[in-house]
Amino acid sequence: MGEPRVLVVGAGVSGVLLARRLRDAGAEAVLIGPSDSGAAGRPADATAASGGLVRAFEPDPAARSLAAASLAELLGDPSLATAAGWRRTGSLYLLDAGAAAGVDGAEVLTRDEVAHRFGFAGLPDGTVGIWERRAGYLDPDRLRRTVMRGLDRTETTPVARLDDRVVELRDGRRLTGDLVVVAAGAWTPRLLRAAGLPTSLRTKHIQYTRHATGRADLPCFVDETSGLYGRPAGPGRVLLGLPSDRWDVDPPAPEPDTALAARVRAVATQRLPGLDPRPVGPPVSAADCYSEPAGLALRHVAGAVHTFTGGSGGAAKTVLAASRLAATALLNTRTAIPVPHGQTEAD
Ligand SMILES: Cc1cc2nc3c(=O)[nH]c(=O)nc-3n(C[C@H](O)[C@H](O)[C@H](O)COP(=O)(O)OP(=O)(O)OC[C@H]3O[C@@H](n4cnc5c(N)ncnc54)[C@H](O)[C@@H]3O)c2cc1C
Repeated sequence: MGEPRVLVVGAGVSGVLLARRLRDAGAEAVLIGPSDSGAAGRPADATAASGGLVRAFEPDPAARSLAAASLAELLGDPSLATAAGWRRTGSLYLLDAGAAAGVDGAEVLTRDEVAHRFGFAGLPDGTVGIWERRAGYLDPDRLRRTVMRGLDRTETTPVARLDDRVVELRDGRRLTGDLVVVAAGAWTPRLLRAAGLPTSLRTKHIQYTRHATGRADLPCFVDETSGLYGRPAGPGRVLLGLPSDRWDVDPPAPEPDTALAARVRAVATQRLPGLDPRPVGPPVSAADCYSEPAGLALRHVAGAVHTFTGGSGGAAKTVLAASRLAATALLNTRTAIPVPHGQTEAD
């Protein structure tokens, strides 16, 4: 039997990388979805909005192994790093000492060392910093566009409806495959429900603002003790955010949350003395698809239909390794997994 024909719905970074991995493995992958990056200030999708922070350390061991493998691939392939707009800035992950775990090539810093070397203030007792000198950030939108140029089988008309091995495009055409993978990010739950398929995937708001720091040496960071995260964003500027609590928002660009932006200002001025609390420009407000357990992975839904989403605000750092695993799993599946009549599987 030959390799399967796989319909990949969604041309965000997840769908594009998955289609590329499938093609590299000799399968026929048809990537379906619009490929614009959005208008100024309004990202078309999570890939266009992403902050792109990339490091090996993650508190969750499964996410850590995917993030470490993705970073190793990026650092080992200079042409990939260029395609991804890679910037090495170092990454500092601040958390309670009890939750820290080792990463190859990372240093564990005490709270005082973090304060001295990076100027963070007000950290609780017992905080440690996982410092990864070789980490940084990339541009997922640029990575997506570069990888897409190498794919021959793409279809830019969006999908109107999903069926088991068939997708119907908005212009009425129908495409058939052996397997269907919905990699439509925050649009995925809606597409599955419209097809009568079960899902526990949800959408969630993510928002960040840009600020002037007056300093040029700030690395990418996550401060679990306050929730604040950030990365350099041009000379003397930093991009800053806090986790949102708005679930089930509509993509691509939910209404900005002014209360969240105010909380960012309050926390950031405590942690980063010298920060100008006035934001530079409007917030970037977007949505991502969240899964439980969190993380970008291939999940079987029913029949020939799978999802490859659930990045939960973190897929930029895991997509290289996750897409490789997903392609291997799909090619091992080869044909639709038979499901007894009338029975479906949840995510
Ligand atoms: C503001 C923000 C900041 C982030 N920062 C980071 C970070 O610093 N580090 C990190 O690791 N991760 C970060 N993430 C998470 C990461 O960027 C996302 O997990 C990742 O980009 C998701 O990519 P995706 O391809 O799964 O989804 P998306 O990028 O949302 O792509 C889904 C695609 O599906 C398409 N689609 C929708 N409906 C249809 C249809 N009917 N037919 C065909 N196509 C369809 C859409 O047009 C879209 O192009 C961030 C996310 C956001 C939103």
